[in-house]
Amino acid sequence: MNIKPCIGIIGAGRVGSETANKILQNRLADCILFDTSTGLAQARALDLSHSVPISNSPVKISAADSYSALKKCNIIVITAGLPRKEGMSRDDLFNVNLEIVKEIGIQINRHAADAVVIVVTNPLDTMSYALWRFTGLPPGQIIGMAGELDSSRFRYYVSVAADVDPGNVDTMVLGSHGDLMIPLISHTYIRSLPVRSILSEDTIHSISEQTRNAGGEIVKLSGNGSGYYAAASCIVEMIDCIINDKKKILCCSVKTSGDYGLDKVYIGLPVVIGKNGVEKIIQLKLPEEESIMLRNAAQHLIAMQVKTDKLLEHT
Ligand code: NAD
Repeated sequence: MNIKPCIGIIGAGRVGSETANKILQNRLADCILFDTSTGLAQARALDLSHSVPISNSPVKISAADSYSALKKCNIIVITAGLPRKEGMSRDDLFNVNLEIVKEIGIQINRHAADAVVIVVTNPLDTMSYALWRFTGLPPGQIIGMAGELDSSRFRYYVSVAADVDPGNVDTMVLGSHGDLMIPLISHTYIRSLPVRSILSEDTIHSISEQTRNAGGEIVKLSGNGSGYYAAASCIVEMIDCIINDKKKILCCSVKTSGDYGLDKVYIGLPVVIGKNGVEKIIQLKLPEEESIMLRNAAQHLIAMQVKTDKLLEHT
């Protein structure tokens, strides 16, 4: 990008404001915060700006009074919407967050139709699909953030179980951002050693479950809202890839066109991320067991997409 990049963050709550903080600390791009809660985006922008003399960051953080200010943004991050409360699944957020994403879709079409959009709002895969339906933008321009977070959590648990540096763990978590997520044991390595040569099947099973429940554990422990530090780190990793055209392979929710035998479903897969968003979907050779798990996750997500389409017909 020749011009100074600018990131619009819609939703200046926990995930949104921590994302802005990391963008500022990493000197990545200017940031515009927008939130429907009166004064919140302005308060966050002011607070973050007060840290600039210490960090000496060239980044400017401002707040928008309306969606129209987002027209100069190259990337839009959607962190608007309700987070889970204890005992809720991400799918329980469907109705309320669909309305929010619908309004945002209309506004993106109006003011920022050229931006790459990173969706964070839950239920993640379905909200990514919904945004694509509402905007009609090229699907490669709309990317869901979840797989990198789930992969980072799984990497962390593997590193603790094996007592090695997390940087030595390479893995991916695919499928849905929910109970049907798939920590890919077949593609999990500690340096170049297959994880099955280091950890027992029981341990691998238990840390896979821990990964699936990681978000819920944070909701339960905090008693008030979901995790946001790790989520913000993953959003910033995606932003960095787009701004700097890094072409890294990241796990993201993307729309399939026959990939993995799946058509027209937003689901977590490994993809190359560059300046235009999704550059390509990477096809892995999966063992039968993991292929079945991916198909199961896709079936669930397709049912959620059908539910989305039905609601759309009535609006
Ligand atoms: P939060 O309650 O702290 O912030 C959400 C903000 O959205 C609020 O400030 C609210 O006023 C604002 N908002 C609501 N409607 C809006 C609209 N139309 N336009 C602009 N702003 C609007 O919640 P949070 O912890 O920041 O989480 C935000 C969302 O991200 C939730 O849906 C949560 O489940 C999801 N999340 C996803 C992941 C992931 O891996 N994909 C990780 C963490 C959180």
